[in-house]
Formats: sequence, C-alpha cells, structure tokens
Amino acid sequence: MPNPRLYKTEAIIVRQRKLGEADRILTLYTPALGKLDAKAKGVRKTTSRMSGHLQPLTRCLLQMARGHASDVITGCETLESFQPLREDLDRLSRALYAAELVDRMTAERVHSFPTYRLLLDTLRRLQQSANPDLVLRFLEMRLMDQAGFGPRLDACVGCSRPLEPEQHFFAPQAGGAVCRACVPGLAGPRVLTLNGLKVLRLLQRGSYNDVARVNVPPDLAQEVEHHLRSYIVCVLERDVNAAAFIERLRREERNTEPGTGNKEGQGAPCS
Ligand SMILES: [Zn+2]
Repeated sequence: MPNPRLYKTEAIIVRQRKLGEADRILTLYTPALGKLDAKAKGVRKTTSRMSGHLQPLTRCLLQMARGHASDVITGCETLESFQPLREDLDRLSRALYAAELVDRMTAERVHSFPTYRLLLDTLRRLQQSANPDLVLRFLEMRLMDQAGFGPRLDACVGCSRPLEPEQHFFAPQAGGAVCRACVPGLAGPRVLTLNGLKVLRLLQRGSYNDVARVNVPPDLAQEVEHHLRSYIVCVLERDVNAAAFIERLRREERNTEPGTGNKEGQGAPCS
C-alpha cells in the first residue's frame, strides 16, 4: 500500500536559506500546490547526493514526505538546470529577480498553474532572448494580473473616462493611468507617454510573441520599467532585492565598456 505521507511533485526552486549545521529550507514553486517550503536535510555536506540537484532556479522532480513543520525532500532528479543562465551574470541576475518576484507576489499553498507556467516560460526565455529586460516586463505585468493587482490601463482610474490617444500620467498608488484632469491631489504621478501606454497595454493583453516582436527604444523601455517598478514597490510595499543587483550590473557595464556597453540586439533599457 502506498504511504500517504509520501508524494511526488515537480518544482522550481525559488529561494534557499540555511538551517542548522547542514540543512537548507528551500522555497519551491510547484504546478499543483503553489508555493511551499521544504526541508532538504544534509545538503550542505560535501557528501550530499542531492545538493547538485537542489540549486536555486533548477526545475526538478521531487520525492517528498509530509512533515509537521515543513515537508521534507527525500529524493530529487533534475529536469532542467538552466545552465546557460548560470554562465551569464546579466541573465542570472534577471532570473534571480524573476524567482524573487514570484516568491514575493504569491502566498503559500495557493495553487496557480498559470504562475508556475509563467515562471518556467520566463526562465526559458531568459536563456535565449536578445532582450531579457522585456522578458521581465512581461513577467511583472502578467504576475500582477494573476495576483489580481494589475494596473488599470483602459480608462482613467480617477474619472473612468476612456483615455484619449495622447500623453497621460501613471499613478501607482491610485492603481494605474490617470488623465490630466484627475492628476491634482494624487500622490506621485509620472508622465505616461502615448507609446508608454501602448507598451503597457501590450504587456497586459498581448501574447509574449506579440511583445517580443515590438522594437522598444531605450528611452521607452526605461519609462515602462520605471512605471512597472514603482507599481510593484507600491503593491509589495517594498522593493525587490534582486532589482538593485541588476541596476549595479548595468552601472558597472556602462563604466567598464564606454560606448560598447550595449550588447547587440539588447537595446539596453536604462542609460
Ligand atoms: Zn480622469
């Protein structure tokens, strides 16, 4: 008879932290159970057979045992190691940001297959895309929509009138785009150009392939990034740690490679 305490699950490891002398607590994102913490015993010992499979960002198949405080990983097998991400610091920093954002935007044990699929697709896209920052913008917008916090972009959040095709404002604390008439009295509105609004709407409603086909010039990419970042900070009530790391890498790249800082086709969004 199968042991009811044992089960198998696929998972992506989104976070790890040390526990005691040799163990780790891993935060997993799974297709059917959502986010959960699991104990990996002895994985910090050099003799551990599991440690190589249980690195952050790895997609793996896990054998689990239900425990009192947290479930315990009893066996594991790597399904995708995302090795190309680990060999490129720019891509790795973005993948870590993606994992951290999913961790922060989701509650434990709330099942969401679309979120699992989105994270998996994001890691695969980050391995190959010529524009990894656009991959992150797509993740940010879709993740907020899935969590029920998507910004309102079809009409003004103040007066609900449809937005004319012209420059407007973006007010994170008000929940999205606002028309000029509704700006007075709002906290922290920033100019939202017509192209900025179009890109945000495409991120919200288009497929990833639609988004990937659009050529977003650097100043527009920067505008969209700032709007989404300020919105996420507002929703989470704090910033995402890995975002600061990406910023530092960008600064170092600009400092060390004057004039050649932009990798071909990447269209560095911040300058
Ligand atoms: Zn209005």
